[in-house]
Amino acid sequence: MSTLVTNLGRVVTGRLEEPVIDVESVYLEDGEIRELGATTTTADETIDASGLTLTPGLIDSHVHPVFGDYTPRQRTLGWCESYLHGGITSMISNGEPHLPGRPDDVESAKSLATLARKSLANERPGGVKVRGGTLILDGEMTEADVEDVHQEGVERLKFLMPVEDRERARNLVAWGHERDMIVLMHCGGTSLPGVKSTDAEMFVDVGPDIAAHVNGGPTPVPDDEVAKLVTETDIVLDLVLAGNQRVAVDVLEMAADRDELDRVQLGTDTPSGTGVTPLGVLLEAATLCGMTEVAPEEILCLATGTTARHHGLDTGRIETGRPADLTLMGPPKGSQAETALEALDAGTYPAIDAVLVDGDVLVDGSRNTAPAKTTATIDQS
Ligand SMILES: [Zn+2]
Repeated sequence: MSTLVTNLGRVVTGRLEEPVIDVESVYLEDGEIRELGATTTTADETIDASGLTLTPGLIDSHVHPVFGDYTPRQRTLGWCESYLHGGITSMISNGEPHLPGRPDDVESAKSLATLARKSLANERPGGVKVRGGTLILDGEMTEADVEDVHQEGVERLKFLMPVEDRERARNLVAWGHERDMIVLMHCGGTSLPGVKSTDAEMFVDVGPDIAAHVNGGPTPVPDDEVAKLVTETDIVLDLVLAGNQRVAVDVLEMAADRDELDRVQLGTDTPSGTGVTPLGVLLEAATLCGMTEVAPEEILCLATGTTARHHGLDTGRIETGRPADLTLMGPPKGSQAETALEALDAGTYPAIDAVLVDGDVLVDGSRNTAPAKTTATIDQS
């Protein structure tokens, strides 16, 4: 299967070093990006992009799946497929704590992470690549427990609440790192009954890789602690919709001032009490574009390539050899903007016109965003 996409307006790469490239066409084959500025002139499928902006498929850095396309938290079926219509082609689980009746013993936590990892890898809910299976850590866990889940393919560990024994907490981080696992830590106030708050000192002391919802999920740590996380650590800064947007703006501006945008990633922290938010990453991106001086093409990198790099994913960037996980987006009808980037710059989320996963067109006209001013024409020969 091959696809030729022509008549592109802008191409956002997902790479902060070169956020926009000037190519008018791309050629996709067998699910991969093969040529930027295509020399190939025929393909099984052609897409006339009518001047739309091509971006990597968006990555939601912070979701809470359980199994399949059902979330018990908001009793919603089909939530992943709905996010796909918001441009999301990959999602990263920050733990599966919403399982009804979730037991909290060590063996059950390991089993849950393993089962989520494997079931979500076997079948993509709604067509989305959901990276499921994040082990929720507790102070009873040993190196053998970390090794067990690592053997089953689990890639992430998460402190959902503080581990009081700091030496054990530091050991858990070290055991994960020895196995190239990513360690996340809940940042801020209590989000669920039974979850305790964390503070900046704990991050400095324990040394996880990612401050999950550094702008609160939903309650952020005090401002001086947020500043400490930005200025005194090199931890990844996860900004989410289901948090405090004034703090998200502060964090983004601090990171930009320090020339450290590559530490920032965007997500939703949903499904959660905040709800199911199919356009959540777009809305977070538009809010941050509208409220800061950071360029829209850079903000789109924070919703694609930087997240992919933090998690070792092969997707999220428009480069040859990468999976053809892509969106075509444009200015929504009725907007003063002439391009998707202008819409974002004004704080308006753009229209999603098409979404491709591994080169397959899964969305031709989003049912969730406004329609774009111009739309792509897809032809299968
Ligand atoms: Zn969360």
